[in-house]
Amino acid sequence: MGGVSTERSAALFDRARRVSPGGVNSPVRAFKAVGGTPRFMEQGEGAWLTDVDGNRYVDFVGSWGPMLLGHAHPAVIDAVQQAVSRGTSFGTPAEPEVRLAEAIVDRTSAEEVRLVSSGTEATMSALRLARGFTGRDRVVKFAGCYHGHVDALLAEAGSGIVTLGIPGTPGVPAHVTADTIVLPYNDVAAVEAAFAEYGQDIACIITEAAPGNMGLVPPLPGFNAALSRIAHEHGALLISDEVMTGFRAARSGHWELDGKVEGWAPDLVTFGKVMGGGFPAAAFGGRREIMEQLAPAGPVYQAGTLSGNPVATTAGLTTLELATPELYENLLATSHEVRRLVSDALTAAGVTHQIQAAGTMFSVMWGVEDAVTDFAGAQRQDTAAFAAFFTSMLDQGVYLPPSAFETWFVSAAHDEEALSTLAAALPTAAAAAARA
Ligand code: PMP
Repeated sequence: MGGVSTERSAALFDRARRVSPGGVNSPVRAFKAVGGTPRFMEQGEGAWLTDVDGNRYVDFVGSWGPMLLGHAHPAVIDAVQQAVSRGTSFGTPAEPEVRLAEAIVDRTSAEEVRLVSSGTEATMSALRLARGFTGRDRVVKFAGCYHGHVDALLAEAGSGIVTLGIPGTPGVPAHVTADTIVLPYNDVAAVEAAFAEYGQDIACIITEAAPGNMGLVPPLPGFNAALSRIAHEHGALLISDEVMTGFRAARSGHWELDGKVEGWAPDLVTFGKVMGGGFPAAAFGGRREIMEQLAPAGPVYQAGTLSGNPVATTAGLTTLELATPELYENLLATSHEVRRLVSDALTAAGVTHQIQAAGTMFSVMWGVEDAVTDFAGAQRQDTAAFAAFFTSMLDQGVYLPPSAFETWFVSAAHDEEALSTLAAALPTAAAAAARA
């Protein structure tokens, strides 16, 4: 169990802070919003992480989404080891990248995909392609949505930006965000109004398929369909960012839950996380007509030294091959069980909350009476209650996302033992949240 000693993590954090800004390579890892020592993990196995002090944790972060099968899945490790033994990067086309692209095209609305190395690259390139295809500059995004650290999209973004309370970021010139229109999420009227005014100049709307970076705020029924309709009425494109939801919210991504059923598809879509199987691999794709504008087929430039890397694509492909419809059924059942356990414990302790979900993904909204539908609502959360809960859970061996503005991730490896560890820790943590 966790919480005993954090001596080695603390020593590593001291060393890290001397050589890296804030001691981390991605801001939310530093535990700034919750306090305490970030745990330096040494090993992952299934639903469990072990830190350098030997503390074990049930992991509900899953490397922020990729670890759909749990840590160190034997089939993924085996495939990766074989791929590594054949060489780690060729800078040429290779079969694994073709197979991964086929697997993505087979499962999603995309007719063609280009592989890249991070979600940020995917959204950055999709945005460039939308602008290149339409010959327009303006882009509509929603407050609280995070699309990676793309300059033009960092206005009122979620994830670490909101966790750290940063309104925007220095280093992004005003002229770079001058063409970014930020609207309230789930507000169709605001989208209609923006298009009434700027419709001729808008290249695209970019949205998270189901936002998971302000906590989980699902699209209201018909919202994504309305975005598609409004964009097309004005000759603009819809980019659906499925970096987090892709192969996670459901097997084809969140689109399986709305567009696929309702009969519409985004023009461009971005993927990351799960499709890399724990390695740096991501993708953007969409309608063939648009994708064929990309170099070398067309004039819109985009490239990458490690794009389609044989080891990363092998890990991703193996993960997708193991992600069967049955796996998602089980994952959804696990997600429901975790939600029920958490909600029951919070209710018993008198902690006001909402659990919000999209497919297998969910988050807890702390201290709010009603369902949260936008960023303003998410920001009304009681972050002190969350911090107390988080710290108590960590002490009891449960590793949660260290921010109230992040989604919880379950994996196929979350079994009885993992859930009973969660259940045992909840009453104490819920009581701590109630006192905060
Ligand atoms: N889009 C979304 C919806 C994301 O959740 C993230 C990362 N959390 C990104 C883009 C950026 O991906 P990456 O961190 O791989 O650059």
